[in-house]
Amino acid sequence: MNRNHRKEVDRRRTFGIISHPDAGKTTLTEKLLLFGGAIQMAGAVKARKAARHATSDWMAMEQERGISVTSSVMKFNYRDYEINLLDTPGHQDFSEDTYRVLTAVDSALMVIDSAKGVETQTQKLMEVCRMRNTPIMTFINKLDREGREPLDLLADIEETLQVECAPLSWPIGMGKRFRGTYNLYRKQLCLFTAGQETRPQDLVVIEDLDDPRVDELLGSQGDQLREDIALLEGAANPFEPAEYLKGNQTPVFFGSAINNFGVQEMLDAFVEQAPPPRPAATTTREVSPYEEDFSGFVFKIQANMDPAHRDRIAFFRVCSGTFHRGMKVRHHRIGKDVNIANATIFMAQDRTNVEEAYPGDIIGIHNHGTIKIGDTFTDKEPLKFTGIPNFAPEHFRRVRLKNPLKSKQLEKGLLQLAEEGAVQLFRPLFNTDYILGAVGVLQFDVIMARLKTEYGVDAIYEGVEYATARWVECDDRKLLDDFEKKNQVNLARDAEGKLAYLASSEWRLGHTMEQWPGIVFHKTREHN
Ligand code: GDP
Repeated sequence: MNRNHRKEVDRRRTFGIISHPDAGKTTLTEKLLLFGGAIQMAGAVKARKAARHATSDWMAMEQERGISVTSSVMKFNYRDYEINLLDTPGHQDFSEDTYRVLTAVDSALMVIDSAKGVETQTQKLMEVCRMRNTPIMTFINKLDREGREPLDLLADIEETLQVECAPLSWPIGMGKRFRGTYNLYRKQLCLFTAGQETRPQDLVVIEDLDDPRVDELLGSQGDQLREDIALLEGAANPFEPAEYLKGNQTPVFFGSAINNFGVQEMLDAFVEQAPPPRPAATTTREVSPYEEDFSGFVFKIQANMDPAHRDRIAFFRVCSGTFHRGMKVRHHRIGKDVNIANATIFMAQDRTNVEEAYPGDIIGIHNHGTIKIGDTFTDKEPLKFTGIPNFAPEHFRRVRLKNPLKSKQLEKGLLQLAEEGAVQLFRPLFNTDYILGAVGVLQFDVIMARLKTEYGVDAIYEGVEYATARWVECDDRKLLDDFEKKNQVNLARDAEGKLAYLASSEWRLGHTMEQWPGIVFHKTREHN
């Protein structure tokens, strides 16, 4: 085993941030990038967020592509660590992409607004993390404002998200009375001054809370802190790294992203405790990041800037070995060797000549539609990585052509866009409709605009009565035939020919599932 390779793997941390809109993800991302010295990128994060206000306008999004492609992966160094932060769009453009990005990270950071507690989007993203036992670290944000009681917030996380909390810092007051945090991880008092970024001299090492300096610094709030910590010792779970790594426990930090307060505390614990690249499952065996043969998979495809060239970028996560620019690799689904010369290796801003990528790193591969989500590339061994799913859509539209002569182009466009993972396409068993399914409604606007610019197709949407979908499976051919016959009106095939049950409501779906206990209903489906 090559020592350098091991070192490169061990110092990598690849993660995503999960949060509900407005909890402070953008602000926190910027602060994290500043610690890594990637100042230019920090500006790009803000610019990108500003661009999001016009997300319903696809062309405006296109203009921002240059920014969005690079800020989809933000790479920075902190101490000896090489960190890849993958953007998980959580706003109006919330979509299947968001979910799939989480299949390419080794851990996640959850941001919670202290006034709001756990919100819906966080809950959904957490479900995805749970599927892969992704370790999650939590940052409770906006302590500079009045919010909910800290114990109340922890109880909310534990109950709503079914994960144990282990506080690693504890807030001293909140809002106007916010004085800072006590870092249980490092036994340090971290003092907060409103409107000012934290400096090293604001950190006071206090091994014993009975130290009189606590009272000097905090006044009457010193006793409150002692009481809180005594209470925590009895009530809260101690931090257990093994439980965190299994996804059963989340270490919690409190702070204020906008004041850059508590961010570095968390980042320090993050690089020390978050896992380096983890082994990845394939249909035949588990691949260790320490293996020297190269392998990885595509988890996201993004249309590129120039619609005339239909160029797309496939985001590829390296799982083992080393990637060198210009390397020849095997694209297993199509059984061809390809030379990856035109790749973007995402890197820190100040290091321009990186020609190599290691496990945990993300490469952007330019292509013209030959690469699909879920595709595996390796040196030679035929492998197929698993766990890159399609998610059951929650929104549906029927597509109607304005000009019936364009039906060939429409079919081609929809199939290609479905392959790319931009939307899901369903063909009902009993008619020839095109039904689109999406996780986020913005996906529909994007599809319409792309059908027009890339395929020259003018179409419109009509509402349909579906609200949810499940992929169905059954080993008993006879039972499946019977199910198909009796439920024809609700059945469709997706772009890969897989049978799906589309229901008008969750209730309806539940009813059918009860009626057909022999049929398996899946909420996700793996890419072929
Ligand atoms: P995102 O939607 O999760 O990316 O959230 P943003 O980072 O854009 O933050 C949403 C709003 O909360 C913005 O107006 C921020 O200025 C504000 N915000 C972020 N962090 C803090 C904080 O620590 N304290 C306060 N008071 N506001 C914050």
